[in-house]
Amino acid sequence: MSTYTIINPTTETAVRDVALADIAQTDAIIMKAATAFETWRKVNPGDRARLLRKFAAIVDDHIEELAQLEVLNSGHTIGNARWEAGNVRDVLNYYSAAPERLFGRQIPVPNGIDVTFKEPLGVVGIIVPWNFPMPIAGWGFGPALAAGNTVVLKPAELTPLTAIRLGELALLAGIPEGVFNVIPGKGSIVGERFVTNPIVRKVVFTGSTTVGKQIMRGSADQVKRVTLELGGKSANIIFANADIEKAAAGAPGAVFDNAGQDCCARSRILVERSVYEKFMSHFESAVKKFRVEDPSLDSAEMGPLISAGQLARVKEYVPDNSEVAFQGSKPEGPGYWFAPTVLTPKDESDRAYREEIFGPVVSVLPFEDEADAIRIANNSEYGLSGSIWSRDIGQAVRVSRAVEAGNLSVNSNSSVRYWTPFGGYKQSGLGRELGPDALDSFTETKNVFFDTQA
Ligand code: NAP
Ligand code: MG
Repeated sequence: MSTYTIINPTTETAVRDVALADIAQTDAIIMKAATAFETWRKVNPGDRARLLRKFAAIVDDHIEELAQLEVLNSGHTIGNARWEAGNVRDVLNYYSAAPERLFGRQIPVPNGIDVTFKEPLGVVGIIVPWNFPMPIAGWGFGPALAAGNTVVLKPAELTPLTAIRLGELALLAGIPEGVFNVIPGKGSIVGERFVTNPIVRKVVFTGSTTVGKQIMRGSADQVKRVTLELGGKSANIIFANADIEKAAAGAPGAVFDNAGQDCCARSRILVERSVYEKFMSHFESAVKKFRVEDPSLDSAEMGPLISAGQLARVKEYVPDNSEVAFQGSKPEGPGYWFAPTVLTPKDESDRAYREEIFGPVVSVLPFEDEADAIRIANNSEYGLSGSIWSRDIGQAVRVSRAVEAGNLSVNSNSSVRYWTPFGGYKQSGLGRELGPDALDSFTETKNVFFDTQA
């Protein structure tokens, strides 16, 4: 059996070895999930709700343990990691209300009664990337289980530890064996098998746009359902009438949080030309103050990158002749560190400006007026997230309606709230997660007509 050695990205030392599943093992677990589906779907709604609430309570009892595990495995700041574990709890609690509220409709028709049912799909495959191992897993398995599906979940090879632990906690909560299965392994083996094995009825994929396209192509063979959450190159648009100090103070966190390894990172800052100098001077002091340090410290705002490979990829985007305006700091010694870096490209054709870097690198461009800001923001193949800073309410409404992205915030940089839908326009994805409608992507609508004529 092949194994993978987990490396702590802060110290570059080995943490432990994890066994990787092969195709036969993957198929066996998928089969187990299919068997478990036959009983899980019939668990009555109140009992299924209670089990999910119990799972949430057990996660809550283990927040600190899960958070420490994520610091060790992924180099996340401890503050973020606690939030991430808490998010799994919250998502489970939120969707624990669903089994008892999975309403269909009664639709007026002639000569009978017409009723719709929301039926579970069966086995759902969830493929998780390494950037937010806990929340992204939970956004899939929470609503999937609530709707009566069973789950096979593949964590990223680099970051399986919290997912493995969540699998154990589910059993501790009384979720029956086979309902929630975590399968550590390679994307090209386990992930690919979720696409090709016909027992898996749906694939939820979060990761790179390149692999997302492969999943979509592969799923076509069986008309398999897919939800895709892919890359981003989101714009942080700052108008002259905005609170410039506040926008500048928040801008480092909006892109350098999680070392920039965030699909919602505001990695393009667009600033109205008349306030460009003012913004840059406040932004520079905020970047220089941004605390890049040992992520286990409560004060840390940014830790290392996930791997030597990711560090090398990020470095490629900042060659020696780059237009670097200024940089933040990084610790000396071991760890995959990259200092927060602010680029001022000449124009929109610049590669670092256009491509998703997934590291702590941001490009700043000036714009002339509202129409110019909208044009520049939309000149991207991506459309996931973004921020609009303006004190003019009409302008904030106009621009938020015009920007082609699934998740925008006005005078704020928040992207994810589990109560509201999350997902991308264009090549940032397909479908929406979270919020009140997420159950729709984990159910089929079945329509039944009852003839009532004598
Ligand atoms: P990736 O290859 O798309 O990985 C995401 C997940 O998909 C991992 O679990 C991976 O497994 C799995 N996977 C890989 N190839 C697969 C295949 N052929 N079939 C099914 N599953 C497969 O992303 P990456 O290589 O880690 O990162 C590369 C770049 O993607 C990043 O630099 C970033 O730009 C982007 N990215 C975006 C997001 C996002 O949230 N939007 C997340 C991660 C990465 P393994 O365990 O083998 O990796
Ligand atoms: Mg990859």
